[in-house]
Amino acid sequence: MSLRPTLDFLLHQWLGVASLQLRERFADHSRETFDAVLDTCERIAREKYAPFNRLVDTQEPQFDGEKVILPQATHDAQKAYAGSGMLSAAQDYDVGGMQLPYTVEASANAFFAMASVSIGSGMLTTGNANLLMKHGTDAQKRVFALNEFNGRFSGTMCLSEPQAGSSLSDVMTRALPDGDHFESDPLGPRYRLKGNKMWISAGEHELTENIIHLVLAKIPDEHGKLVPGVKGISLFIVPKKLVDTEGQLTGERNDVALAGLNHKCGWRGTTNTLLNFGEGKYPVRGEAGAVGYLVGQPGRGLQCMFHMMNEARIGVGMAATMLGMAGYHASLDYAKNRPQGRPVSTGGKDAAAPQVRIIEHADVKRMLLAQKSYCEGALALELYCARLVDEQHTGAPEAADDARLLLEVLTPIAKSWPSEWCLEANSLAIQVHGGYGYTRDFPVEQYWRDNRLNMIHEGTHGIQGMDLLGRKVLMENGKGLQLLAGRINATIERAIQVPELAAHANALGQALAQVGAATKAAWATGDPGDALANAVPYLQAFGHTVLAWIWLDVALAAQASAESPARTGRLGAMRYFFHYELPKIGAWLQVVSARDQTCASLPEAAF
Ligand SMILES: Cc1cc2nc3c(=O)[nH]c(=O)nc-3n(C[C@H](O)[C@H](O)[C@H](O)COP(=O)(O)OP(=O)(O)OC[C@H]3O[C@@H](n4cnc5c(N)ncnc54)[C@H](O)[C@@H]3O)c2cc1C
Repeated sequence: MSLRPTLDFLLHQWLGVASLQLRERFADHSRETFDAVLDTCERIAREKYAPFNRLVDTQEPQFDGEKVILPQATHDAQKAYAGSGMLSAAQDYDVGGMQLPYTVEASANAFFAMASVSIGSGMLTTGNANLLMKHGTDAQKRVFALNEFNGRFSGTMCLSEPQAGSSLSDVMTRALPDGDHFESDPLGPRYRLKGNKMWISAGEHELTENIIHLVLAKIPDEHGKLVPGVKGISLFIVPKKLVDTEGQLTGERNDVALAGLNHKCGWRGTTNTLLNFGEGKYPVRGEAGAVGYLVGQPGRGLQCMFHMMNEARIGVGMAATMLGMAGYHASLDYAKNRPQGRPVSTGGKDAAAPQVRIIEHADVKRMLLAQKSYCEGALALELYCARLVDEQHTGAPEAADDARLLLEVLTPIAKSWPSEWCLEANSLAIQVHGGYGYTRDFPVEQYWRDNRLNMIHEGTHGIQGMDLLGRKVLMENGKGLQLLAGRINATIERAIQVPELAAHANALGQALAQVGAATKAAWATGDPGDALANAVPYLQAFGHTVLAWIWLDVALAAQASAESPARTGRLGAMRYFFHYELPKIGAWLQVVSARDQTCASLPEAAF
């Protein structure tokens, strides 16, 4: 079973991405060039990633005291990825890019996430370099970003610290000006950093010539005190090895040391590290302190970092989706081949009859259809968001601004919904396999372990829920929410004309009204403590409503296509979502609307 027909349908029959070639930036592209990129990535993922997914899980990264050792397969896969040009796919021609729409780039990257998410394809590196292209100086772009796009260097994002995870305002890494002439360094104002960064993905390895860390740190005030809150946070480029203004290694090691590798539940092919900055293990010019170059303005570090985090959040949503999809395909294949049990019929079971394959049992079909509706729905959502990114960058001013605002509202859903529901899909994939699914002889347990990360990193579920209800639906006087409601209503208006979809259109209209009413009720007292006590049930209900909309919109495109098993499957998955999933929002929104304090008010001693 292949992902490609689903991707092609969503890209072309649903989103109509070929029309992007009418825009100046994409004028050299066509369906053929888009297909060629997908073909190449599908092939590299099949040859260099998929066969090694179990290997990178069992051969975890090892630290020999000097170097981190990764399997040769990881080196080969990442080399092939960089060689394909995908690291710079969306960049301008004059910096070596292909000016590919982000929608196509994200689709192409889906193959790698499905084949082996933890070998990694460069999401952090491109995110890091994209941030520098937006906020860096010309020298920072040339020396750091361009060498990330060409695969010489790789990138990280260093936000978290042992005492500062969700609460980044508490970061304690300090940055002090490096000497009297610190401001005149050609690579940017030069500082010395000291502190510890926890959980840093791809923080140490030998896959590339250099590693470019983007580090959040605070510059102390004139009394030597760190400014409380996020306002005091600045952003620095801290290369593992120092470079000159041409991007050549100077031969000096920067004062960044691996304190240890974290041993994870899943996603084991990527190193995860505790890094010590500036503790003096590798003194630079005789002094402890990691050399870092300021990016943008002091105190504006988190705003710059959000540029990377928004992209990373769509990337996380896509990774969660593709892990779910991998489990769906594996369990579908298993269900078609595993004989077990006999059909239930009015005459009872005939024990002498041959066993049927488990896909013939209604409950197994339920588990498969749930997975299909979660994963193909999530894929459509991620591609819709990717298309909004293209609109934001290349659309006419008003459309671009609408896309920006819609992305603000949809990003918490794009990150969180697949992280929860495609993880549930992985659990169902194990269930379809029965006992075999619980062993390491089948791939589905690894998909679940790999996917379990996604509700934790890039903002936990709880933090995303608070971001949605506490900020995104309120921002700019609720304009983002109104815009989204406008898009949902446009789909409803089209679907109501189609007899087969009219009832679903009505159900979606009611769901949207319920979400709107619950948003108002949550904030009725104006007390964030009341409103946000049930932010996660709100996130779940909002997410399910968005997914119902996406499915109805996809169903309109499916309806218009010729009869085929794929068309029947898409309409079936849409019906599953409306019949089995959407009704759940009632329970979630009830506690939101009532500002239910059952959880918030229970005294600690009563637990
Ligand atoms: C494998 C892996 C890779 C990672 N990669 C990176 C990376 O490359 N770079 C990087 O900087 N970080 C990375 N992280 C860190 C990740 O972003 C943090 O783990 C995450 O932000 C949560 O922080 P924490 O672990 O300290 O948990 P905590 O912040 O302690 O949260 C624990 C629990 O408390 C809840 N909670 C916390 N505060 C609140 C609140 N105010 N209201 C309600 N609930 C709250 C959370 O939702 C969570 O359920 C990675 C983590 C992992 C596990």
